[in-house]
Amino acid sequence: MNSAQVEAKAFVSGAPLKMFIGGNWVPAGSGKTFEVRDPGEGSVLAKVSEGDEKEIDGAVKAARQAFHKSGWATMPANDRAVILHRLADLIDRNREILAQIESLDVGKPVAQPLGFDIPNSAATFRYYADLSVYMRRREPIAVSGFEARTVRFPYGVCGFIVPWNFPFLLLCWGIAPALAAGNTVVVKPAEDTPLSTLYFCKLAEEAGIPAGVINVVTGLGGGAGAALAKHPGVNRMTFTGSPEVGRLVAESCGRNLVPVKLELGGKGAAVLFDDIDVEAAADKLVGAITLNAGQVCCTASRWLVQEKIWDTFIGRASSTMQSLRIGYGGEADTGLGPVVSAKQQSRVLGYLEKGTKEGASFLLQGGKADVKGRENGFYVKPALLTGSPDNVCAREEIFGPVAYVMRFKDEQQAIELVNQSNYGLANSVWSGDLNRANRVAEAMVAGNSWINGHNLFAHGIAYGGCNLSGYGGGVLGPDTLIDYLRQQSVVRSLS
Ligand code: NAD
Repeated sequence: MNSAQVEAKAFVSGAPLKMFIGGNWVPAGSGKTFEVRDPGEGSVLAKVSEGDEKEIDGAVKAARQAFHKSGWATMPANDRAVILHRLADLIDRNREILAQIESLDVGKPVAQPLGFDIPNSAATFRYYADLSVYMRRREPIAVSGFEARTVRFPYGVCGFIVPWNFPFLLLCWGIAPALAAGNTVVVKPAEDTPLSTLYFCKLAEEAGIPAGVINVVTGLGGGAGAALAKHPGVNRMTFTGSPEVGRLVAESCGRNLVPVKLELGGKGAAVLFDDIDVEAAADKLVGAITLNAGQVCCTASRWLVQEKIWDTFIGRASSTMQSLRIGYGGEADTGLGPVVSAKQQSRVLGYLEKGTKEGASFLLQGGKADVKGRENGFYVKPALLTGSPDNVCAREEIFGPVAYVMRFKDEQQAIELVNQSNYGLANSVWSGDLNRANRVAEAMVAGNSWINGHNLFAHGIAYGGCNLSGYGGGVLGPDTLIDYLRQQSVVRSLS
């Protein structure tokens, strides 16, 4: 084991991990803990305090107190930015440990968080810290007869409920703009993967973020999660997760009239025209559907292939998928790690069964994968299915390394197939004809349309969804900072 692995292991094992509330590390008042499993081994990795309503209430009160008393909300944006830059530097400096924790907790091959999740999280803090310095908070309004301006203030306490697939990245994509805007936050990480969020709190302390500005309550969805969503002391809420739970969170927020941003699931399509480099596109899409074992909200899980290139494309995609080494996330040559939990493994296998019962057939056989020496891990083989667009596997989010492949004749048919989905998160179009690619990109209904690539992210480009994939403007855009500022008009009559 290298030193990062030793430190990661030492952090997660041992005494149950405590929550971070008001700058203190605290156990649950009930004394309860829950187990977090290593998806690659199936064994218990950590024990974590199980907070509930009481801890959520304490965290919201601590965040309220910090909002009014710590100076965070009122300090000049450039002073706050200095602290957030320090935090970003600490994330970078601890990236090996964070990547190890993320790999242990989620099962992902360690190169992935090391190469993307962790550095991108640090970059997110830098992006919003810098943007907040240059953003105009007071803007004059030119209206005859009045002297008027718009002033932007932080909301107060912002709640965040985070899913398990990219725990660290989504934590940072969520809270960085809220903090840069001057809010304080209460975070409820997913019960399957709370570990990197707790390590993050250590770094936040070290960066000098005042006590109570960041609070983390670990616990179950129906306990701490539901309690946060309905807490009347929250001023703004952000939920990332499934549409089913998103509805519940939105209902609770609706009752309190709290604005909520929903970042939900997806059933993205990739449209492949016959004028592309077929093998290069196949490799990229296999990369996308097997990234994080397919547990990626914006991945392309429906592949629409123009008739002429069908055989070459399927041949290449199948052989690339089969060449991936399925194994433990901590091993350097692992191409495909386990899915996050036994529950998720059953979900993926259940979809394969339901899909084939409804008439879909395998182009590449999927199923449970056995990894030598890791018999209790939650491994699944990558799979390709084909069949009717009405099949359950073509309609619902499987969240595993499974793509549903369909043929199309022409542009119109491809667009119709893409837009059959109730989701609206991210699609891609692949063509050598950029006029056609741009036309199709605009015709596909979703928050994001990518051309000749999939999963194209950059700070400054908003990423969000529509329809079943959520609402509220998304993340990563410049407007995301404004989302965390309430607007106030100040007006004086000149007559
Ligand atoms: P989930 O909805 O089951 O859980 C998400 C979070 O909600 C967890 O922290 C969970 O504890 C909490 N929760 C569960 N029940 C709750 C309740 N009753 N009240 C309040 N909180 C509750 O989702 P998941 O299985 O963790 O994540 C997978 C889903 O997230 C997929 O649908 C995926 O597409 C989606 N997702 C979307 C994005 C995006 O940016 N659009 C990003 C990542 C994941």
